[in-house]
Amino acid sequence: MNLEHLNALKKLLSSPKKIAIIPHKNPDGDAIGSTLALWHYLSNNGHSATIVAPNDFPKFLKWMPGAQQILNFERENSQSKTVINEADIVFTLDFNHLGRVGQMSEILESAQATFVMVDHHQEPSDYASIMYSDVSMSSTCEMVYVLINQLDDENSITPDMANCIYTGIMTDTGSFKFAATTSNTHRVVADLMDKGAEGTEIHHRIYDTNSPSRLHLLGCALKNMVILNEYATAYITLSQDELDKYNYQKGDTEGFVNYGLTLDGIKFAVIFIENKEEGIFKISFRSVGDFSVNDFARKHFNGGGHTNAAGGRSEDNIADTIAKFTALLPLYKNQLQS
Ligand code: 5GP
Ligand code: MN
Repeated sequence: MNLEHLNALKKLLSSPKKIAIIPHKNPDGDAIGSTLALWHYLSNNGHSATIVAPNDFPKFLKWMPGAQQILNFERENSQSKTVINEADIVFTLDFNHLGRVGQMSEILESAQATFVMVDHHQEPSDYASIMYSDVSMSSTCEMVYVLINQLDDENSITPDMANCIYTGIMTDTGSFKFAATTSNTHRVVADLMDKGAEGTEIHHRIYDTNSPSRLHLLGCALKNMVILNEYATAYITLSQDELDKYNYQKGDTEGFVNYGLTLDGIKFAVIFIENKEEGIFKISFRSVGDFSVNDFARKHFNGGGHTNAAGGRSEDNIADTIAKFTALLPLYKNQLQS
C-alpha cells in the first residue's frame, strides 16, 4: 500500500471502529483466508469486525479458525444488511469491482462507510478511497500479510491468522507452483510457519477431502473433455443433470479445469458448469504462458481475473455457448500456437 493510503488507513484504525469485511461471491481459499486473517487482526485490536460473504463457501474451508462467524448474505440477510449499513469501514478483499458480490452490490453501493480494497486482480475499479491493488501478488492473503507488516504489527500474527494466510497463499498458487509464486511468497510462507502455520495439516484438510461422488464427477468431467489440438485448447462441460447425478456439493468441481493443462501442448483450458437455478453457465478459464484469459473472459464472457486464471459466465444454452466459444478460437490461433 502506498504511503498516502497507508497513513489514511492508520488514522482510520487509530480508534475502535465498526468494520464489515467482504469477500467475493463463491469465495475460495484466498477470499476466506484473507477475510478471516484480517477479521482476527482487527478484532484482536479492539475493533468490532464482521465478515459478510455474498453466499455460502465450500465445506473444505469450514475448519478455518473463525469460519463459523462468517455471515451469509443469502441466509442471514437482514443481519448482514445491518452490519454493512452501520459500518464505519468496509474492507473488500480478493475482488476489485462491485459486480463480483452478486446481489450484495446494491447495498454496498449505498453504504456510507469508507471503502478499503485489498486485491491482486487486474483492472481495479475506483469504488475504494483507500486502495491496495497489486497484480504481481500471489494472493490477497500475501497482501494481508504485507499490510499487517506495514502497520508494524507483524508480531501480532497469531497461529490462527498464520493458518488462514497460509491457506489462501497455498490455494491461489496451486500449492506454490503458479508463476505468481515469488521468492518473497516463500519467505512469507516460511515466516508463517514460524508463527504457527501447520502446512501439512492444511494441505490435508483442503486436498484430502474427496467424496466418492466427487471422484465420479471428476471421471464424468474428464470423459466430457474435448481436445482441440489445432488451438492448443481443451474444454470440459458439466450439465446440471450430470452434477445432480453425482450429488454435486459446493466446491466439488474445484480444480477440474486444471486437468486440461496437464496435456502436452495444451495452453488454454476451460470448464463450463451449468447452474440451472441462476440460468447460467459458470466458466473457468486457465492458461499457461502469455495468452491472457483475463482479456478473453472480459471481452467475451462478462468476466475477468488474472492473466492465467479467470472466470466468466454465459446466459446462453450449452450448444450456443460452445458454438460461441469455438467460433472465437480461430481469432486467437496465432497467440495459442506461439
Ligand atoms: P475461478 O475460475 O476459480 O472461479 O476464478 C479464477 C479467477 O478469476 C479468480 O481469481 C476469480 O476471482 C476470478 N473470477 C472468477 N469469476 C470471475 C468473474 O465473473 N469476473 C471477474 N472479474 N473475475 C472472476
Ligand atoms: Mn485471490
